[in-house]
Amino acid sequence: MERKGVAVVAVGGNSLIKDAQHQTVKDQYEAGAESMHHIAGMIADGWDVVVTHGNGPQVGFVLRRSELARHELHEVPLDVCGADTQGAIGYMFTQALYNEFLRRGMNKKAVAVVTQTVVDRNDPAFKNPTKPIGSFMDEKTAKERAEKEGWVVVEDAGRGWRRVVPSPIPIDIVEAPAIRTLIDAGFVVVGVGGGGIPVVRTETGELVGVEAVIDKDFGSSLLATMIKADVFIISTAVEKVALNYNKPNQVWLDKMTVAEAKAYMAEGHFAKGSMLPKIQACIRFLENGGKKAIITNPENLTRALRGETGTLIVP
Ligand code: ADP
Ligand code: MG
Repeated sequence: MERKGVAVVAVGGNSLIKDAQHQTVKDQYEAGAESMHHIAGMIADGWDVVVTHGNGPQVGFVLRRSELARHELHEVPLDVCGADTQGAIGYMFTQALYNEFLRRGMNKKAVAVVTQTVVDRNDPAFKNPTKPIGSFMDEKTAKERAEKEGWVVVEDAGRGWRRVVPSPIPIDIVEAPAIRTLIDAGFVVVGVGGGGIPVVRTETGELVGVEAVIDKDFGSSLLATMIKADVFIISTAVEKVALNYNKPNQVWLDKMTVAEAKAYMAEGHFAKGSMLPKIQACIRFLENGGKKAIITNPENLTRALRGETGTLIVP
């Protein structure tokens, strides 16, 4: 089989949870297996693949369980919640890939890597936490926990109080060399779950976990840069990126350059918190030596790689 190169594929929330009625572990496995089916198609086509993934809802579930059980069991810090979800999702994805390879008679093996992503202790995000996590609280509880545990809490649009944590920019991925080595040895790798577990380096160079969240699109883009991937793909809920998304004058984009992407970004075409970080992540990859980034949905991965659909972004 002709080896086409290394592809980092960042799978989004829709590859894990279809909707609010399908959140059980079995539902998550089935949703994941559907995306792994399409990724196995890419692998059969000759691509070496690293699968990265989001974990927002799953971290929320682990945290909630921890909160509800705090009268009986220790609470779980946010970095460990991230590690828990990387393990569980890594397990589901590698098992789904194993079963795909078996069905297709492919001689391939998948492995999941618990991944730590280094952020800068002086990242301005630490002074301005913005990402809401965990359950809603009443004002009294929120203020108590702020006092006792140093949480930053905010009132969330009349719905109650919530903890907010920083979302710093990833600067290094500790396991990137291991992931590259595994890819070179022929493994399919699942890693950088949730953008990676956020850690900082102390003055003596040691790693320590922090209470923060990392954007999975940024973490995945950094991995793609660090392992010199040939293509960075964001697999999400839309086949292509649009201008004037969801408006009567909407147009789907087949291709754009970094300069065009920046101009569209400035015109406000990409929604904050959904498409914007994806475009920014693609730009970062392309500005750091990457040649090609693609945004499409799981069912079109193989076709998009052949240039038949998706939105291609080039330097
Ligand atoms: P993921 O879970 O994969 O990270 P997100 O929901 O965060 O997915 O982001 C993908 C979503 O971004 C799409 O499903 C779409 O609703 C939305 N979106 C916002 N702006 C655009 C745009 N300009 N073109 C296409 N989709 C857009
Ligand atoms: Mg997202």
